[in-house]
Amino acid sequence: MTDVRVRIAPSPSGNLHVGTARTALFNYLFAKKNNGKFVLRIEDTDAERTSKEYIDNIFDSLKALGLNWDEGPDVGGPYGPYTQSQRFDIYPKYVQELLDKGFAYECFCTPEELEQEKEEARLNKKPYVYTRKCENLTEEEKAKLRAEGRKPAIRFNIAKAQRAFHDSSVLHFDDLVKGDLHVDTDLLGDFVIMKSNGAPTYNFAVVIDDMLMKISHVIRGEDHISNTFKQILIFEALGAEVPRFGHLGMILAPDRSKLSKRHGATAVSEFVEKGYLTDALINFVALLGWSPSDGQEIKTVDEIAQDFRINEISSSNSIFEYDKLNWMNSHYIKMLPIEELKERLKPYLTQYDLNSLSDAQYTRMVEVTREPLTLLSDITDAVAYFFGEGVELDEKAKETLETETSQDVLKTFVEQSADWEWTEENLHEKLEAFRGFYKEKGIKPKVTMWAIRAAVTGRLCGADMTAILAILGRDKSLNRIKAVMKQTV
Ligand code: GLU
Repeated sequence: MTDVRVRIAPSPSGNLHVGTARTALFNYLFAKKNNGKFVLRIEDTDAERTSKEYIDNIFDSLKALGLNWDEGPDVGGPYGPYTQSQRFDIYPKYVQELLDKGFAYECFCTPEELEQEKEEARLNKKPYVYTRKCENLTEEEKAKLRAEGRKPAIRFNIAKAQRAFHDSSVLHFDDLVKGDLHVDTDLLGDFVIMKSNGAPTYNFAVVIDDMLMKISHVIRGEDHISNTFKQILIFEALGAEVPRFGHLGMILAPDRSKLSKRHGATAVSEFVEKGYLTDALINFVALLGWSPSDGQEIKTVDEIAQDFRINEISSSNSIFEYDKLNWMNSHYIKMLPIEELKERLKPYLTQYDLNSLSDAQYTRMVEVTREPLTLLSDITDAVAYFFGEGVELDEKAKETLETETSQDVLKTFVEQSADWEWTEENLHEKLEAFRGFYKEKGIKPKVTMWAIRAAVTGRLCGADMTAILAILGRDKSLNRIKAVMKQTV
């Protein structure tokens, strides 16, 4: 069996999209499963849409997801360079080979002429295919056109290649995911492989790169299926081995339209900024088209790799359920070891003076606030009342503090707590007794606690009250209570 070598070839015209992350993951898994190599190639030939910032974003996002590549622009490898713009001098030789073999020809048509052809097709309500009027130009005709200052583009001769290697105009291939796919190549039209300025087009450069990098399997989105037919013919025309292809269904938004910014985050880095854990994100992305044989959806990439079979990938589209991702993320947050969680949360706590807490206090604060977190960024609001002297009261807290019962609770609390030892353990006991004291007077324990919570945190829900009091300390807790009491004690 040939060595398994797969690649992803992102174009750096934006931050790494979750769809590309899924393609990368499936390639990575396929390589792992087959002891193969995972190659990263940057397809930056569209200089206008390319930026260094996007290239860095691609590197950083893939690394953050743990999708490390064996060969690529930064780590090198035997078939470099791995950045397409650095490979420009490689392509002309293969263009020449196709010209020599008669599988390509020079096309002198101007953009205006081509536009006119397209217009005619539109008028005749026919799908446009290039008329091939430059296919059989004589040397004299070409010389004349050159003399006019025209520079030719190079077109691939589809019909010639197709007829050289296949019995009819229909080209088939056996897709790893979708099974038999075919097209009538007469409908494809001779496409440009090298522009008149010498720049290779995507369909050509990708074949040369995949060929020279000895790529054995091309796994990518189904939006490339129509390109695959063209690419197969170029491989064949060059006498190269054709890789196996596998096309993944699209990722759609919950409303079944193309996933886009209006649905929420789409770039991996955006998800990370919002407080998604990359472990959750990669686990979620794996389930877009793949399902675990044991039905157990929470899995590490290594576990997924064990179970991964490309032919079991669903050939249909997947829906990007943000709710499910949120659920997974909250699950992963719950699973994080406390020390790691403490570190991961710090970027979302920069607005607070963390130095005002000891390490033990910080640990406890995280322990008691982590439970309801869906995103790491939820921590910013969840811990607001642990910082600063006073608190802002929300509407419900204000209402609660207006009642006579609340005021009575607070007054008694201040009086009774004067000699309490202010440790969490002791506060726990004391508060229980305190609630009992009010229960005997017919006040429900939760009503008693609302009064204290409203005064100390400014809200009616939040972390364990005993822990909050312990972390804040006696002075801060009592000062906040006194600040909302109508009469002083
Ligand atoms: N640069 C192409 C893209 O980003 C690569 C497609 C391919 O995998 O061949 O869509």
